[in-house]
Amino acid sequence: MIVIDGAEGEGGGQVVRNACALSLVTGRPFRIVNVRGGREKTGLLRQHVTAIEAACRIGGASCEGLSVGSSAIAFTPGAVVPGEYHFSVGTAGSTGLVLQTVLMPLCLADGSSRLLLEGGTHNLLAPPFDFIKRSFLPIVNRMGPRVTARLLRHGFFPRGGGRIEVEIEPASLRQIDATARGALVARRGAALVAALPVDIADRAIGAVRTSLSDWPADAFAVRELPEDQGPGTILMLEAEYEHVTEIVSGFGKLGVSAERLAHTAAHRMRGYEQSNAFAGPYLADQLLLPMALAGGGCFTTVKPSQHSRTAADIIALFLDRQIVFEQQPAGEHRVRI
Ligand code: AMP
Repeated sequence: MIVIDGAEGEGGGQVVRNACALSLVTGRPFRIVNVRGGREKTGLLRQHVTAIEAACRIGGASCEGLSVGSSAIAFTPGAVVPGEYHFSVGTAGSTGLVLQTVLMPLCLADGSSRLLLEGGTHNLLAPPFDFIKRSFLPIVNRMGPRVTARLLRHGFFPRGGGRIEVEIEPASLRQIDATARGALVARRGAALVAALPVDIADRAIGAVRTSLSDWPADAFAVRELPEDQGPGTILMLEAEYEHVTEIVSGFGKLGVSAERLAHTAAHRMRGYEQSNAFAGPYLADQLLLPMALAGGGCFTTVKPSQHSRTAADIIALFLDRQIVFEQQPAGEHRVRI
């Protein structure tokens, strides 16, 4: 039985999701104590419970201590069964994070799957749907599986109600070298707004145009979503290269002006553009699991985040595989799995 202290390293929900995925693939049971011990509100939230329930359903697994607020769980995996599954977070909890939990086991299963996931699609502290579709999944697909994702309805905090559909054609995972971005293909920025004054999105786009003055003037758009998909707003900046797409998001929050949110997002995008790295900080921590399950691989990233280092520690526990982070002369880091 692998025992994990959930307060160590990053100390968040990703420890739980990665442990479930790794357990289903390796057949090794685990326990976590101090679940999400690094967070202000410790223990499992609704969205983590849904993610573990999803892992139990697809993997014939059982989990002791599975309830909202729980700080200790024991997970015993079974056999992964591909097929049609419907998981609803029940709150605005992120559908993308539920997907993170079950995707790799289903990519390595012996048949195709179709998932319908309901909850939030554009949540703070989680990968927005657009990031999953255009940034993360193309790399997974390059490794062998065919995963397609469709957004059926947006869901924002606190109302939720979003819906995504994901189809998975499994394949064994190929090792890839993800160090070259390739040529720049396009740059885009979109501000989405639902059931809030459209002026919020207009101001965000105005500010980002000023910050990214070298981006083409027609790169930016405001998208008004149907009222019943809100309230919510998000700004997404996207730099598409031949081999990778980076998406930086600014989430609308009470008390944060549209201009400030736009400047922060533009500043982060500028940092990525000026570096030579393949993966931004979020893509980096998300690539570790598929690459480790492929038995190796390599990518470059701006600067390894605590999320990445903690993901590497959890992977080492299940796969006895050390992940090496090496700073390169130009400043970016090479990650070898
Ligand atoms: P945790 O904080 O442990 O629940 O993990 C959050 C996960 O969401 C990590 O895998 C992050 O890479 C991912 N994530 C958080 N914010 C973003 C974002 N703005 N864009 C893409 N992924 C994100």
